[in-house]
Amino acid sequence: AKSQGRDGVMIFNDELSIRVERKLEIERFLHFALENNEITLQYQPQLNSNSEVIGCEVLVRWHNEHLGQVGPDEFIPIAEQTGFIVELGYFILEEAFKTFSDWDKKGIYLEQLSINISMRQMFHNTFTDDVAKLCKKYLNPKLSSKLMFEMTETSVAEDITKLINTMNKIKQCGIRFSMDDFGTGYSSLSYLRQIPIDELKIDKSFIFELDDTSKSTNMVKTILNIAKNLNLSIVAEGVETQLQKEFLIEEKCDILQGYHFSKPVDKHEFEKYVQVIEVT
Ligand code: C2E
Ligand code: CA
Ligand code: CA
Ligand code: CA
Repeated sequence: AKSQGRDGVMIFNDELSIRVERKLEIERFLHFALENNEITLQYQPQLNSNSEVIGCEVLVRWHNEHLGQVGPDEFIPIAEQTGFIVELGYFILEEAFKTFSDWDKKGIYLEQLSINISMRQMFHNTFTDDVAKLCKKYLNPKLSSKLMFEMTETSVAEDITKLINTMNKIKQCGIRFSMDDFGTGYSSLSYLRQIPIDELKIDKSFIFELDDTSKSTNMVKTILNIAKNLNLSIVAEGVETQLQKEFLIEEKCDILQGYHFSKPVDKHEFEKYVQVIEVT
């Protein structure tokens, strides 16, 4: 029993050191990811209940020659810890704005372009100026007013006054805000009332469970009611099945996003997708 215990400790230490090493490696390579052109963006369509593409969410991708493809769930938290998110976030905004402007010129008109924003990025002292400058450089006021910044409630700031001030400055550019992963974080309803949010995004974990538990059916209905009462638009992410789609449309969910319609794709594939959808 004693030696087993020792093995247990060893295994634990091995796992821990592997994890620490992986993190350090990511940290090290991530630092050069921008200058090495390893960061790209993908776009996932958002559709209304008539199956028309009304927008998309921008999702960052990182491919490194040593590490291979690393998912944002893994590297974004590290970028947040090291502060690299500020530089990375700026790059993402600039790329996304350029794409949005290109699409407008090509006659691809979207109601919204959703971009994920980290709290650490949002609280950086140059953020509001950076956003205003980028809007001015790449977008006309009409396009700026179609931007939606997604923030997550798990990373919600303790300093709510500062958060509200920052949001209001950003809103002067016409940009709206979405509460991402709604239902999974720590935010309360009073919190929702205080901050100037325009949209709720129901977390995909609730959508996945729609098919088999009445509990999550009720949960989704409740979230849809909250959105309606607070006059917020609502997006369901992670829609994978026809059943989920039908339920959400029945319950008057405005916007749907998920693998059932399309995975996140690069800019050129998105252009093709929009055109295909419009014809059919
Ligand atoms: P998120 O903002 O909640 O993004 C939704 C995630 O769900 C994306 O994963 C998307 O690819 C995935 N997804 C979409 N539809 C489906 C579906 O039908 N089924 C399943 N199983 N998954 C679906 P992804 O791209 O790996 O991103 C993970 C997280 O990384 C994001 O979660 C977001 O928190 C963060 N992230 C991604 N891009 C950015 C970015 O540009 N900036 C920041 N700050 N965070 C980002
Ligand atoms: Ca998101
Ligand atoms: Ca989410
Ligand atoms: Ca998330």
